[in-house]
Amino acid sequence: MKMLGRRGILAPRLQPDKNVGPTEAQKGCKMNRKKSIKLFDRAMASIPGGVNSPVRAFGAVGGVPPFIARGEGPYLFDADGNRYIDYVMSWGPLILGHAHPDVIEAIERAARKGASFGAPTEGEIVLAEMVKEAFPSVEKVRLVSSGTEAAMSALRLARGHTGRDKIIKFDGGYHGHSDGLLVKAGSGAATFGVPSSPGVPTDYARNTITVPYNDLDAVRSVTKKYSGEIAAIIVEPVAGNMGVVAPASGFLEGLRSVCDDIGAVLIFDEVITGFRIAKGGAQEKYGIRADITCLGKILGGGMPLGAYGGRAEIMDKISPQGPVYQAGTLSGNPVAVAAGIATLKAISKRGFYKALESKAQKLEVALAAAAKSSRVNITINRVGSMMTAFFSGSPVRNYADAASSDTALFKKWFHAMLDRGIYLAPSAFEAAFLSASHEDSHIEITVSAAREVFGEVKSL
Ligand SMILES: *Cc1c(COP(=O)(O)O)cnc(C)c1O
Repeated sequence: MKMLGRRGILAPRLQPDKNVGPTEAQKGCKMNRKKSIKLFDRAMASIPGGVNSPVRAFGAVGGVPPFIARGEGPYLFDADGNRYIDYVMSWGPLILGHAHPDVIEAIERAARKGASFGAPTEGEIVLAEMVKEAFPSVEKVRLVSSGTEAAMSALRLARGHTGRDKIIKFDGGYHGHSDGLLVKAGSGAATFGVPSSPGVPTDYARNTITVPYNDLDAVRSVTKKYSGEIAAIIVEPVAGNMGVVAPASGFLEGLRSVCDDIGAVLIFDEVITGFRIAKGGAQEKYGIRADITCLGKILGGGMPLGAYGGRAEIMDKISPQGPVYQAGTLSGNPVAVAAGIATLKAISKRGFYKALESKAQKLEVALAAAAKSSRVNITINRVGSMMTAFFSGSPVRNYADAASSDTALFKKWFHAMLDRGIYLAPSAFEAAFLSASHEDSHIEITVSAAREVFGEVKSL
């Protein structure tokens, strides 16, 4: 370990900024990000907030996001040529790392035959069969182009299937940005939802009831109150969008039995967890069967692809077989499907998940030790190769716990790590993802950067 302590030897090369004095936007930024700063200014003039998805703008941490030029394995390279070890991995999809040769080759080969046909192809069947094999609860599956579409369509189907309107979701659960899912709790622990974004009709949000994650009693009391009205419970079986929060023992089993009791559809949103915490996602890991499963992220290997699938009896209610309408010009896109097939082939290799998890565990243990020796309070939640280090001294079991972590400390940590070439998600409430391309050496570099930062972070 002796060669790891000195920053600058194994740590990615840093280029101190000599020519531009620290502007407000650059505060705390030691790298040269002149080109990113220029690009961000230019983007602002043509793209709302300069980005095509909000969290990329660094709103929660301040400063200017690096504009990315390319990725390779565990590395990102920005427009100024800075190299980072990446733990965002495109927010989860890149379980094989950036620009994996098998995936890129599959994309190239498919693209040469045409980018889209709007007609059925064999690849779609192959991918559907692979999904069914990984998820035994999925008897039929429909491909869409994003996780948002998958969750939105799964809910429409659940409502069409049950003839009921209300759904239950969990505080801090994210299921994409469709209207009925952009809802937070009103006052009280379990109540009719109120829109959490302008533009979402109150009437629509009223059909979404939110309860705290891991709180089975709250679920039971809601289902009692609205008996006969609940179409579905939608849940991230391991929460990933409030930071990583594992399901408490008995929680997922409890949801399964509540749904069975009241005739509601249990929807597992495995957009992150599917092919992440096991090939068969949370359902394989915890041994629970969902009625409908939502997939995305890893499924497309970095291309826009999502899916929802489940029991044939339910899935056959989708148009054209049944009356519940759902469609897509680019659904089952041949290039995205090819990337998905190549990715699922690679993760099917024997020992893939064991190797991935052991690296994640190594990172977890070393980070916890580094924080402890600097007397920084962190709680690391990890499930498989997804994890979050909350700046909190207490356990994090739901959104309220997560929200009470120290976000000011997180900001300092985030920027100090970024300046050392470690690219983490720019929000305290996101997961870090390991990929097969992260090696022990990358983890050691990361931990040695973390050790420095924990040492400094309290006094920054
Ligand atoms: C990312 C995510 C979505 C939305 O997927 P998009 O492809 O961004 O639309 C839905 N559910 C969960 C659990 C997610 O993490």
